[in-house]
Amino acid sequence: TPIEQLTSQAAQQETAALQADLIKYGVAYYEQDAPLVEDYVYDALYARLVALEAAFPQYVTQDSPTQNVGGALTKSELAKVTHPAPMLSLGDVFSLDELVAWDARTTKGLGFQSPYNLELKIDGLAVALTYVDGRLVQASTRGNGTIGEDVTRNVKTIRAIPQQLTEPLTIEVRGEIYMPKQSFATLNAQREADGLEPFANPRNAAAGSLRQLNAQVTKQRELSAFVYYTAEPDVLGVTTQSDALRRFAELGLPTDTHNQVIDQMADITDFISTYTAQRDALAYGIDGVVVKVNALDDQVELGNTVKIPRWAIAYKFPPEEALTVVRDIEWTV
Ligand code: NAD
Repeated sequence: TPIEQLTSQAAQQETAALQADLIKYGVAYYEQDAPLVEDYVYDALYARLVALEAAFPQYVTQDSPTQNVGGALTKSELAKVTHPAPMLSLGDVFSLDELVAWDARTTKGLGFQSPYNLELKIDGLAVALTYVDGRLVQASTRGNGTIGEDVTRNVKTIRAIPQQLTEPLTIEVRGEIYMPKQSFATLNAQREADGLEPFANPRNAAAGSLRQLNAQVTKQRELSAFVYYTAEPDVLGVTTQSDALRRFAELGLPTDTHNQVIDQMADITDFISTYTAQRDALAYGIDGVVVKVNALDDQVELGNTVKIPRWAIAYKFPPEEALTVVRDIEWTV
């Protein structure tokens, strides 16, 4: 039913049902690393919930998935870590029209057209890495954005992540832990041979492999990583996102080099078509393109909501999987 035709009561019922379903899917995805539905199904339900809550704000609840990052971590046995600054999610769009609308809001917010840094959206899970005097001392997952899980010992088994930076800096950096496609194929073949349930996709395999009590298990899983963010750019002496990526590489941190600065949103189309075409050939999974306001001062000016930065947006690729009908949620898609 179109939202404008809903009675208040029907809207309340549908909103509550969607909130409950998405919380259930979130627990399976974020806490158990075993999704119950495909991502595009989740995304479609989430978009409907966002639209419903915008039209009927009285039905937004504190525990709505639109108001919270990731999972609640109630079932995690890993030690907990409080993040010095929240680890946020990203807003997402599924069409060029929506990107243009986002660009218009950003330009209006800043009062001028900002250059953007385009990056591939790596299909893994976010991690925060703390270096003290250049030495890796702590690693944590995003968790619910405020509190994550301590995965220090696990991360120390990942060869791509240096234990020591090339300079003795004290800094927290953030990035994505992912499982290369080849490692994923090998792992799932082994699991099937062992009579174990295969992981649904490389993202869930990466999360399940990192969030282990026994770091030896993580070590066998061949994870890798890319770093793309720090909340402390002054430590690096940089003022743009593109320079931050260059500095991360100088420090010995793994970075994805498929990034590009554009002066205006119209220039994004080549980047999107290039990586839509090259997606299969990459050694790791990507599920879209992340557009970031390049000047870090402008990022601060735009700020964040409780869940997402206003200075970045994810353009998600259309789903690759064949459509799977999930019976109990068919009515809302
Ligand atoms: P997200 O994964 O869509 O986007 C935010 C994340 O992107 C960041 O936290 C970061 O980890 C990652 N990222 C990758 N490359 C990046 C880059 N270059 N720069 C910055 N960040 C980058 O958001 P989310 O909040 O982690 O999860 C929501 C998504 O997860 C949904 O859109 C859905 O597709 C999926 N999900 C699926 C289910 C399911 O049941 N299938 C359940 C919950 C969530």
